[in-house]
Parts: sequence; structure tokens; C-alpha cells
Amino acid sequence: MMHIALLGASGSIGRQTIDVCRNHADKVKLSAIAVKDSVDFAIACAHEFEPDYVVISNRNLASNVSVDSFPATTTVLFGAENLVTLCELEGIDCVVNALVGAVGISAGYAALKAGKRLAYANKESIVIGGDLLMPIAAPGQLLPVDSEHSAIFQCLAGEPHEGIYKIWLTCSGGPFFGRTRDELANVTARDALAHPTWLMGDKITIDSSTLMNKGLEVIEAHHLFAVDIDTIQVLIHRQSKIHSMVEFMDGSVKANLCAADMRMPIQYALSYPDRWDASCAHLDWRFEAPLEFSDVDTEAFGCLALAQDAGRRGGTAPCILNAANEVANEAFRSDRCAFLDIERIVASTLDAIPSEPVESLEQLAEVDGRAREVAAALIAR
Ligand code: MG
Repeated sequence: MMHIALLGASGSIGRQTIDVCRNHADKVKLSAIAVKDSVDFAIACAHEFEPDYVVISNRNLASNVSVDSFPATTTVLFGAENLVTLCELEGIDCVVNALVGAVGISAGYAALKAGKRLAYANKESIVIGGDLLMPIAAPGQLLPVDSEHSAIFQCLAGEPHEGIYKIWLTCSGGPFFGRTRDELANVTARDALAHPTWLMGDKITIDSSTLMNKGLEVIEAHHLFAVDIDTIQVLIHRQSKIHSMVEFMDGSVKANLCAADMRMPIQYALSYPDRWDASCAHLDWRFEAPLEFSDVDTEAFGCLALAQDAGRRGGTAPCILNAANEVANEAFRSDRCAFLDIERIVASTLDAIPSEPVESLEQLAEVDGRAREVAAALIAR
């Protein structure tokens, strides 16, 4: 039995992870869950799974929440510092990091240091802290949950690293695929959130609409698979059935295909190197739509190139990019900036702060904070 700590339990990845745990209750046990402030959700989960620990990371809720609402065998802790506590618990075998944004990095770092299997859905923290996380990850310890990266990981199984010629990172194109730059000037967050290809949270759905999500994924793949930014080629594939491909030096290409359902990559991060019965649909490929590919419209969508540039520069540039994007993404969702302002804010923040080599979590937190201030000031102007 694998004992799991699930961080970010009430989010989209968290809920789908819970579903996988439900389907495979003979193999995995949810022993700890963490939510930010979704107390009712945590209570329901605690009664279903009877975890040893529940963390509510918003400390301010401590006075409003009665621990009597939880099973007697569950210890309830308040405060974000307890996310790290969960990662270090003796009885935990695997940490699922489904936190959103840069805040997840200290938990990921602690889980790796403690020797736990780390199922990683918190792409922002690999983007900003890959230089710190990857050197302490043993082979097979850090399992990607991002669908594209799970696909690449599966394609690379048994292959020599030096055989990699190119990684084809697929991209659905997002809800605004096909629009011109002029047309993008007036789109709203509501437009973006209305038609996601994947069932995802709001932050990542907006990132998908700007293609910043794909830009972050390029940097994520660069760290996870130790390849240059320019070895990774983004490829528009609207059907989201191929989840990425790896091309080898001899011209052979491996692709990973399955339903567009996050429960597949989540489950594989738990089952690896084994395979378990599917938590997603088995597709009948005779009746699937033709698979189509095209190039990215980099004229209309500027965020991808910003991320590629930051990835090439390395150091703290991805941290600055990510922090500015988190602030601009949030501002767009609350109607405080326009769609095309997102890339302007990110570009200006990158210009305002010099990149330096990554040295520590404290340094990243400091750079992250500085970039957020610059981005917020640009929005206020
Ligand atoms: Mg993805």
C-alpha cells in the first residue's frame, strides 16, 4: 500500500487524484491532504478516506473551524508551513504536489530531500526552481503529472538520453486559436474560461489561452529531461489526443496517445513503473477524428517567445517571468487588465529585473516578490 500526501486536494488536479485513489483503494491510501481554505471539502474527504493528517494552509481559518467536524483519528493542522511537515512525515511514501503557482516549491524540495516519490503537477515551481530541484531528484523519483511531460516521460522509457533529437511538445492552441492580434485585444477572461479543451483550474485555463502555459511547459521539459530549450518544438494539435512526441536521432518518432483526461498522467505518476486499470476512457481509434498539426501563430501570441527567451537566459529569468505572469493572469481574471497586457506586463517586468544564477529557495522567494511588485505597479499604471 502506497501512502499518499495530496497537496492542493480541492483543485482540479487534486480532485482527479482523489478519483484515482478511489479507483485503486487496494493500492493507494490517502494518508494526508492539504487544502488552502476549502474546509467543507476537506471535511468530506476526511470522512471518506480517514487520513492521519489534514492541513488547512490558511491559518486565519483556525478560529472558525471546529476540529470536531473531522474524524477523531485525523490530526488537523493550520498554516502553510505544515505543507512541508506533510512532505517529511515518516509514514508518507508519495507526495502529490498539485499546488498552483510558485508557492509549491518548498514542499517539492522537502519531499525530494525526504526521499519521497514526488508526483509533480506544480509546473510553476519546476519552472522557477528546476536548478535546485533536479539535482536532488533521484532517477524515477520525480514523476511528471503534466500531461505532455508524462507523455514525454513514457516515450523516453528505455531510451538513451543522447538519442534524443527533438521533443515535439503538443499544444491544443487554447480557446483563442485562430484569432488575429487585433481580435485578441478585446477578449475577456470569461471567453477564455468558457471553452477549455481540458478540465482545468482557472489560472491554467487563462495561461492556455495566452500560450504562456506552453511556454512554462517548454521550460519545465527543459529541466525534467535535461534538454536545451531549442530541442523542444511546440506543435499545435487541436484534438489533444497525442500528448507529445519524442523524435530520436535515427528519425524514429514515439508518440503518447490517450483520452484528454488528467487521471491518466496522475495515475501513471502513482503506478510507475507498473500499469493499473484505467481511470480514463479507452478510446476506439477507428472512430477518432483525423489528427491534425500546425505551427504556432507567434505573431498573435507573444507569451510563448517570452518564455522561450527566459528559458534560454536561465537563472532567475524564469522566476521573474512566472511571477509577472501570475500577477497579470490574476489581474486579467478580475478585469484589471486586457488580454494583450499580460504579455506586455511580463515583458516589461523581465526588462526591469536582471537575471542572476539560482542559488537558494530564499533568493527565489526574494526575486519572486520583487517581480510581483514590478508587475503590480505596471498594472496599477
Ligand atoms: Mg500540460
